[in-house]
Amino acid sequence: TALGAVPQRAAFIETAAISANVRALRKVAAGVRLLAVLKADGYGHGIVPAARAALEGGADYLGTAVLEEAFAVREAGIDAPLFSWLAAPGAPYARAIAEDIELAAYSVGQLREIADAGTGAGGVPRIHLKIDTGMWRGGATPADWPALCTAARELEAAGRIRVVGVWSHLACADEPGHPSVAAQLQVFRHAIDTARSLGLDPALCHIANSAATLATPEAHFDMVRTGIAVYGVNPLPESERIHCPRLRPAMSLGAAVVQTKRAPAGAGISYGHTESTQGETTLAVVPLGYADGVFRSASSVGPVQVGGVRYRVLGRVCMDQFVIDVGDDDVSAGDAALLFGPGDAGEPHVEKWAEASGTIPYEILTRVGTRVPRIYV
Ligand code: PLP
Repeated sequence: TALGAVPQRAAFIETAAISANVRALRKVAAGVRLLAVLKADGYGHGIVPAARAALEGGADYLGTAVLEEAFAVREAGIDAPLFSWLAAPGAPYARAIAEDIELAAYSVGQLREIADAGTGAGGVPRIHLKIDTGMWRGGATPADWPALCTAARELEAAGRIRVVGVWSHLACADEPGHPSVAAQLQVFRHAIDTARSLGLDPALCHIANSAATLATPEAHFDMVRTGIAVYGVNPLPESERIHCPRLRPAMSLGAAVVQTKRAPAGAGISYGHTESTQGETTLAVVPLGYADGVFRSASSVGPVQVGGVRYRVLGRVCMDQFVIDVGDDDVSAGDAALLFGPGDAGEPHVEKWAEASGTIPYEILTRVGTRVPRIYV
């Protein structure tokens, strides 16, 4: 398995876990469609293998933030429904339309640019209109929404676009019961009614991310957009997970120990000598550093599993490596050091690494460096 022998340094990706997580999420959001979010190289797992695994698990749609990511999916020969939602003026819309990539429109100007790009692209752009229901990120404000819907209706009547969706994004879905969730849903429902009253007939209304999919059924509408949960991480606080399916983390990060050596008491460790050995001990060098996505903020705290034992980073994380203190344990060069994974070998969960690094699992997964080989198991 991934955890038996670690070849130098690797992120092991269990694609079957991605498929199984999608299957589990489909049951949670029964009766609605599921879009698997593939942005940021499939949350670090590799966009194409992640896309294939998600489809294998029954995903109906794939989604990316930027168009380059959507093009990568199409280049791999994947022809599933695909929605891409983050583009500035001048984006390669004509190529997106020709490749049957569905696009978001946040404003009348953007809608017109997409419609113009559709002329000559050989297809009618398929649009998801974005309403900003209160996150104050992208999308039309409620005040601008009727004008966006009216412009969309006119372009649709002229056969220049097709409105397939109305969508939004929640700011606090990972805090179930936060008043902003209900407030955003209320604005969303009202926006859908407005769109319909202005002659649009969006088949797909969608607002739920993983957290809302798991904790807020009334946010499911016609489709959920699950990202982090597809990769096996539950974004809800522990106390809110009682009714959630068990998700399996798809990524393990590990490396083979480069060297071990005995050190006397009082040896200053790594840059800055921020820590010293307490007594005579064995030190082991692990060849993963901040250039690989091991956060420097995890210095002195990041958990590491070698054999059956849990250690922690000693001193500072360097660019390519860090040191652990293994005491008098029998650890040798070549032994597998695991930073995080599904826990089969007792290794930490990515949440623990995130906590030790002062960040969230999303950032840990998406920052695993490009020089760390992804090994698909
Ligand atoms: N939808 C949009 C628009 C997003 O930007 C994201 C990612 O943040 C998601 C859905 C998926 O979110 P999560 O990974 O929390 O499920």
